[in-house]
Amino acid sequence: MATVNLVTGGAGFIGSHLCEELLKRGDQVICLDNFFTGRKRNVEHLIGNPSFELIRHDVIEPILLEVDRIYNLACPASPIHYQYNPVKTIKTNVMGALNMLGLAKRVKARVLQASTSEIYGDPQVHPQPESYWGNVNTIGVRSCYDEGKRVTETLFFDYHRQNDVDIRVVRIFNTYGPKMLVNDGRVVSNFIVQALRGEPITIYGDGSQTRSFCYVDDLVDGIIRMMDADGFTGPVNLGNPGEFTIRELAELVIELTGSKSKIETRPLPADDPTRRKPVIDLAKERLGWEPKIPLSEGLPLTIKYFDHAIKTTK
Ligand code: NAD
Ligand code: UDP
Repeated sequence: MATVNLVTGGAGFIGSHLCEELLKRGDQVICLDNFFTGRKRNVEHLIGNPSFELIRHDVIEPILLEVDRIYNLACPASPIHYQYNPVKTIKTNVMGALNMLGLAKRVKARVLQASTSEIYGDPQVHPQPESYWGNVNTIGVRSCYDEGKRVTETLFFDYHRQNDVDIRVVRIFNTYGPKMLVNDGRVVSNFIVQALRGEPITIYGDGSQTRSFCYVDDLVDGIIRMMDADGFTGPVNLGNPGEFTIRELAELVIELTGSKSKIETRPLPADDPTRRKPVIDLAKERLGWEPKIPLSEGLPLTIKYFDHAIKTTK
């Protein structure tokens, strides 16, 4: 019997790539999404595949489905989208996790949580290993997401200790690639869209803050390896340790697009982390995983996608 997977947030950026990969290996996939930041278009090519089902549902409401594995990805990930309705972001994280953990307990499914490098906040330890507890503001504009994800990790480990639920927790670092929305608002998509349209490239602050960018195919490989791993709950960092300043990213995007866009600065948003880079020794050791696609290869693939998306999106 093929494994039946539930992917919440399956019509989103990472979720839609994950659905594709699971189908490729012969699994069945139930994609659940409320289409807040996801789109049917991301999975429309999968509709009609007898192994694929699409359900419009909000994870804050309970649902009963017979599944073997649950990938809990439902949650807006871009700061502009998760700050649009912060209370809803907290509900999605907390009630979504409670509903998926309750479902996993009831049907004895293995359940994986898409946690984030944001749980490290503005890190005082660099680079960040899983053993670092983080430096997070509880009351700032990013807190709905950061604290939502932190309490979700807590819920996962309490369900594991209290109810023996088979959990997996991955901490995802900044990931980019095709199928991001043109209006996603995150830095890679913003810079590429601005460069392709010949608009100013908007650096927030002085651009000296750093991020480490992982191409989506590498990330999905890591997520699936983690779900397949036996006897390992995590948390495990999944990200590309290549670290770039935001100004370096802007310059690379201008170079690769051949754009005439000029760089302009804008105010730095509150609580914007100053640096971020994963330690991935644990993923290497336990999952045999490390990213294969550097920014210099992933960016051109993403630029190609956005070039087409801009021309075909109203
Ligand atoms: P995304 O916004 O493209 O995808 C999120 C998906 O969840 C969307 O399809 C959205 O419609 C859906 N969703 C949101 N709220 C929902 C709800 N209440 N009920 C049902 N569906 C809901 O973002 P993404 O980049 O694909 O991120 C996927 C997951 O990975 C998120 O949990 C995010 O926090 C996590 N993550 C992503 C990154 C990254 O860099 N992309 C980094 C760290 C963690
Ligand atoms: N950023 C920027 N210009 C933009 C969008 C983002 O300079 O148009 C910066 C942002 O301030 C942050 C970094 O790029 O320092 C990454 O932002 P993003 O929203 O992609 O993700 P974050 O890692 O902050 O959640």
